[in-house]
Amino acid sequence: MDSDRGLLTYTGGWLDRAGGRRADAKWLDELVSSPGSTVLPFWRDQCLVSGDPPVPVTLPAVQGDGVVFLGLDADGHGVFATDLSGMEAEQAAELAGADRAVDVRMIVGTLSPADAATAGYGRGLLHWHRNQRFCGACGAATESAWGGHHRVCGNEACGRLHFPKIEPAVIMTVRTGREPERILLARHRGSSAGRYSALAGFVEVGESLEDAVRREVAEETGVQVSEVSYAASQAWPFPAGLMIGFRATAITEDITVDGEELLEARWFTRHELARYAADNPLGRPDSIDRHLLRAWLGDGGNLQPDAAGSTTT
Ligand SMILES: [Zn+2]
Repeated sequence: MDSDRGLLTYTGGWLDRAGGRRADAKWLDELVSSPGSTVLPFWRDQCLVSGDPPVPVTLPAVQGDGVVFLGLDADGHGVFATDLSGMEAEQAAELAGADRAVDVRMIVGTLSPADAATAGYGRGLLHWHRNQRFCGACGAATESAWGGHHRVCGNEACGRLHFPKIEPAVIMTVRTGREPERILLARHRGSSAGRYSALAGFVEVGESLEDAVRREVAEETGVQVSEVSYAASQAWPFPAGLMIGFRATAITEDITVDGEELLEARWFTRHELARYAADNPLGRPDSIDRHLLRAWLGDGGNLQPDAAGSTTT
């Protein structure tokens, strides 16, 4: 929805992806070497940055095999990305005129929404290229095509087209169907002590998104849910995710956790969650779970723009 533009980190549709022109190799060749076009260099999933706060460096546009087309900026200039992973870190940084390489998530707080989205996009697309160098059908080497949005098997007898791989995951707020409404949150193994977050999990083969929500909630907590409705989605290129957020209504409230993946799950009233949020981060700062939880705290209204600090009610 247009009203959601830019509210969730790594989203917002800031570039014109010009999908209809990717097949035009001549147009892409001219664009990549035209003044104003830029190339974002990456090294092994990390941005090359300089300064403090760190700013991703850009290279003047040049033609090259490892360059992928991300889109056109608001001025119609080409935005590209290139992967310097074949070099050592110091060599890549020197070539790019950068100080160092850092993960997008480490610097996202200092990036503009557009830069964060573009950096995530470039990271995700280049990660796929590094992991699709060979054809899964015949084992032959593949080649980049369509500005880097396909790879084509180099074996003529096969010729399979490969498309960037995206792994969908559902993330959900589960609420009771009766007043006072409560929400189900869990502590995951590996999360900081006492940190609660929304339930989430990957969609499996042969499942609808709604099926995945119901299965994940039941598997992780033993709670059965009925109604499942869509809330929002978020690009999550770490490395290849798409987070699809839902609101679900519970029809049972007894909790059973496995004690392995999930250490604990419990129901929170709004008052309890607001108190928790006063002393703890509510979700990851760049993640949709923060938005889903804040929306519920704000009386279940629309997603709100992210703001620094904890919610207080
Ligand atoms: Zn093949």
